[in-house]
Amino acid sequence: MTQWLKLLNDQQRKLIFGNEQSTDPATAYDKKRAVHAGVKGDSVPADQVQTVWQREMEQSLPAPEDACVYINIPFCQSKCTYCGFFKNLADPAKIADYTTALIEEIAQTSSSPMIDQTRIRAVYIGGGTPGTLNAAQIAQLLTAINRHLPLANDCEITFETRTHDLGGDKLQACIEHGVNRFSLGVQSFDTRSRRSIGRIDSGSAVINNIQRMLALKQASVSIDLIFGLPHQSIDTYLEDIVIADQLGVDGMALYQLNVFEGGRMDKSISAGRSIAVPKTAEQFHYHQAAYNLLTDMGYHQLSMSHWVQGTLDRSIYNRFSKLGKIIHAFGAGAGGRTGHYRYFVHPSVVAYLEKINQGNKPLMGMTEKIQMTTLHDFISGQIDGGKLRFDIARKRFNIDLKQIYAPLLASWEQRGLAAAGERTLRLLPAGQFWYVNMNQALLDILEIILTNGAYELPQERVAAQG
Ligand code: SF4
Repeated sequence: MTQWLKLLNDQQRKLIFGNEQSTDPATAYDKKRAVHAGVKGDSVPADQVQTVWQREMEQSLPAPEDACVYINIPFCQSKCTYCGFFKNLADPAKIADYTTALIEEIAQTSSSPMIDQTRIRAVYIGGGTPGTLNAAQIAQLLTAINRHLPLANDCEITFETRTHDLGGDKLQACIEHGVNRFSLGVQSFDTRSRRSIGRIDSGSAVINNIQRMLALKQASVSIDLIFGLPHQSIDTYLEDIVIADQLGVDGMALYQLNVFEGGRMDKSISAGRSIAVPKTAEQFHYHQAAYNLLTDMGYHQLSMSHWVQGTLDRSIYNRFSKLGKIIHAFGAGAGGRTGHYRYFVHPSVVAYLEKINQGNKPLMGMTEKIQMTTLHDFISGQIDGGKLRFDIARKRFNIDLKQIYAPLLASWEQRGLAAAGERTLRLLPAGQFWYVNMNQALLDILEIILTNGAYELPQERVAAQG
């Protein structure tokens, strides 16, 4: 069962096991390997994409299935220095055309059996910054979503935005048309840190905006915070968490800063225009301090990065996407999933508008799910929840993951990253910092076994800070 060990060269072993001799969990691995763990599927040839898509959309499901919707608004008022997702600067004329096309895309495809037979438990309007739409456009988009898509009665509708972009009329449009969750990209309340990454508002302006949203009592409010920012110490990071707690937000998603190799922040630090940011081993201590503080405050985890108090912030879209559920995707740059394929909507707004005008789904590509996708999704969904149930895997997939992974689990246990019982592997607080690498390692091992060692281990350049 552990023959895969013999197939690894030194470099592969290091990616999977990390620094085996290190007794310091801060250096259990050198750095983060990917933004999200995963294994690529087989690409559908470009000339077959539309046909495969049409066929897939015509598929009938044996029974109604849970699904979620992702809608992408690829515009921002300004570009944040660390961002790997920026696409277009907000331009009112372009946004007007884009909103019309987006509504058309939703109307065009919503009656297909693949969409019609699902029950949509979560809609996520993300970007970019959806707050770049004006109030009338927000109202039109939400009206189209409500009219055309089979939303379940308990559907969580999230509107992601920077607080700067969501003035009173836009906020009202969201509330009047069914938004029941705001996901706010705060990143930090510390004005100096915020300005250093290109954020416009001061910390106190952000606080005022959040108070305004919470006072409505109409939607849950979850905020994103980043650790490892310029000018941020562990103390100021913990202060951000305390401020969020005192404001009474429903949830906090805490993300490690990714410095993309060759990205704006990387170049700016290398050229000496920006101060250096904490290295990965230092980020570890920010993570552990936040873990201890939030545990002490009585928060609980919905996922490895998301902490909540109370029950209002359900974060359904994020959980569903990790669990491999069906995602109906709309808008330039959005990524979706059917029962058998992943698909990607063209990221260029120009190409997107052109295709919509021709009456086609503006697809850039599709990949077919691979042999083990369902098992991969199971593992990734479990790890994102801080565990891996061996007993469920045995029953559902007839596979003994505990035995297959034995050497790796022993190494993780010895280094304080995880604890394995008979039924379940649990990620310990130290392991939670490394969960993406650990998740990727578990997927890699299955692929190495399947390909008899021919599989190439992925390594994205997402931690240029070292
Ligand atoms: S607002 Fe969000 S998507 Fe836009 S540049 Fe900033 S971080 Fe990136």
